[in-house]
Amino acid sequence: MNNKRERISYIICLLVVVLFFAFCLIIGTRHDKQKEEAMVNRWNRGVHAGCGGNFEYQQMIAGQSWRSYVYRCDKCGLVVTFPHQMEFYTSGSEED
Ligand SMILES: [Zn+2]
Repeated sequence: MNNKRERISYIICLLVVVLFFAFCLIIGTRHDKQKEEAMVNRWNRGVHAGCGGNFEYQQMIAGQSWRSYVYRCDKCGLVVTFPHQMEFYTSGSEED
């Protein structure tokens, strides 16, 4: 009886822990997706939405645990940085 009760509370504890991790994973994934969407929107297929110029790759800046890829608008000179190279997001599924 006592043993059974212990086992049940053990299972409940396990369940709570598993649910907690699942919850964290879902929140984390959603957050990453939002961040990625914002980044892709800013990149806008290599076209600066503000002036219609094209982003040109300038250089990569690397730290110990991060990288930044610097792009510059060829029309207005705006400099933007992205966490990875963005050419991949230009060749996509759209009709052009
Ligand atoms: Zn521009």
